[in-house]
Amino acid sequence: MKFKDYKYSRPDVEKFEDDFRGALKLFREANSSENQINALKMINKLRNSFETQMELIMIRHSIDTTDEFYEEENNFSDEVMPSFEGLINEYYHELVNAKYRKELEKEFGEHIFNLADMVLKTFSPDILEDLKLENKLSSEYVKLRAAAKIDFEGEERNISQMQVFLESKDRDIRKRASREVSEFFKQNEAEFDRIFDELVHVRDKMARKLGFKNYIELGYNKLMRSDYDYKMVSNYRKQIYNSIVPFATKLRDRQAKRLNLDKLYYYDEGLQFLSGNANPHGDSDWIIDNGRKMYKELSHETDEFFKFMMDRELMDVLAKKGKAGGGYCTYISDYKSPFIFSNFNGTSGDIDVLTHEAGHAFQVYSSRDYELPEYIWPTLEACEIHSMSMEFFTWNWMGLFFKDDVEKYKFTHLSDAVLFIPYGAAVDEFQHFVYENPNVSVDERKSKWRELERKYLPHREYDEDDFLDRGGYWFRQGHIFMNPFYYIDYTLAQVCAFEFWHKSNRDMKSAWNDYLKLCKMGGSKPFLELLKVANLHNPFRDGSIDEIIKPVKEYLQGVDDLSL
Ligand code: ZN
Repeated sequence: MKFKDYKYSRPDVEKFEDDFRGALKLFREANSSENQINALKMINKLRNSFETQMELIMIRHSIDTTDEFYEEENNFSDEVMPSFEGLINEYYHELVNAKYRKELEKEFGEHIFNLADMVLKTFSPDILEDLKLENKLSSEYVKLRAAAKIDFEGEERNISQMQVFLESKDRDIRKRASREVSEFFKQNEAEFDRIFDELVHVRDKMARKLGFKNYIELGYNKLMRSDYDYKMVSNYRKQIYNSIVPFATKLRDRQAKRLNLDKLYYYDEGLQFLSGNANPHGDSDWIIDNGRKMYKELSHETDEFFKFMMDRELMDVLAKKGKAGGGYCTYISDYKSPFIFSNFNGTSGDIDVLTHEAGHAFQVYSSRDYELPEYIWPTLEACEIHSMSMEFFTWNWMGLFFKDDVEKYKFTHLSDAVLFIPYGAAVDEFQHFVYENPNVSVDERKSKWRELERKYLPHREYDEDDFLDRGGYWFRQGHIFMNPFYYIDYTLAQVCAFEFWHKSNRDMKSAWNDYLKLCKMGGSKPFLELLKVANLHNPFRDGSIDEIIKPVKEYLQGVDDLSL
């Protein structure tokens, strides 16, 4: 069976609700632990089949945002998801008050009860309409961004198709391409501002209706951060500021030197080497073929996994007009299938998809047999450990894709990973500011963003691009609109992945075993406990970042980048 044969039919919402409530009644009135466990399984079966349909809508809509059928189904999904979440909420309410809770804990572990508690705090029927509005606004953002048609070098292109020009060896092309991308956001400035402002207000309103002080607390609960809080995150950002920002600035100085520039402007940042960035030496079919070889050699687990993905055609990777931007990995419950979506564009980013998104897919594939849908994925910061670490576990095979440029690729990969972390901290601090101060003007938001760029990215210069100099860069960062507070997660995972990088360089076998253990745990434990299972540092603890970044600095300092 292939992805195209996975059957979509619009769920009958009324029938679903009746069935769900019927199963919930069995759960509530169960007169033995066995019956209660069976009712729980029945509930999860219903959830899985409903979610399968919603996933198929989301995937097929993102593959072609101009397809009217799935556009309509996507509106349907926006409309019904909040009621679905309402039902899950009723179930969680019964779950935490279950008659046979002790037996359930024995069967499924305690973490499900943690998770249910957090979800209960984040929902009440009072916010149903607000949630619908939030979904609608997020969809407006996606649509506005995907509608970008940039005339460049004789063709109409979307934003992700512009990426290759932002990395061009020709400074003039980089500069013009960057200006065009910036111009698109500037032309739609009022609309992006409106969408975001409405999002901030509706989120703040929901938080206060639920009894939170502001959206920060609600946002953390929604991300199921059960074992850390915003103070720990703030301390973590401080470590980044102290231990990583100065080193990142030095890396930018080295980049300017490599590029023979007196001054590195923002449109130069995408090019690492005058001789060009390391790009894959072949087309997408060739990349996938090499991927097959790589995963076969890496381990028998990855071999089995990658064959499954290929046989079922669970990867849609080519950039096409009308396709939504970015990349993601998701999971289709009833078919126990991961799905990978991306926009290949001829840059090394294509290989990152093959390793990064495949890392996500490999994890969910490894934990697909958990009975509880809650345990299939961990929380988001833990999810990114699997993907970012896979990027490093596959380092030994990068020669397949980059040939003579492999050292250049490795240097770029690792230094980009370092350079990303301060940016991630800026995005995170920005969002804390936004939701702590929901009533500031759109201009104040922009100037705060620019201030944070000066703090975390002190090298950044916009060369008279007035819009970006006023603080408009973050419009392109979809997470800020669609997934509040989900961003620092990438940096947390990145530092964990650095640890796997270091360990795999010293002892591949034991590092891989720790990684497998982590993947198989899925989401059955919270973040800090998962780190313990995988023998990783707690990044919030003072000194952790300094220690983790040390071997990375040493490696990068040891590379004679001027000769690459
Ligand atoms: Zn990821």
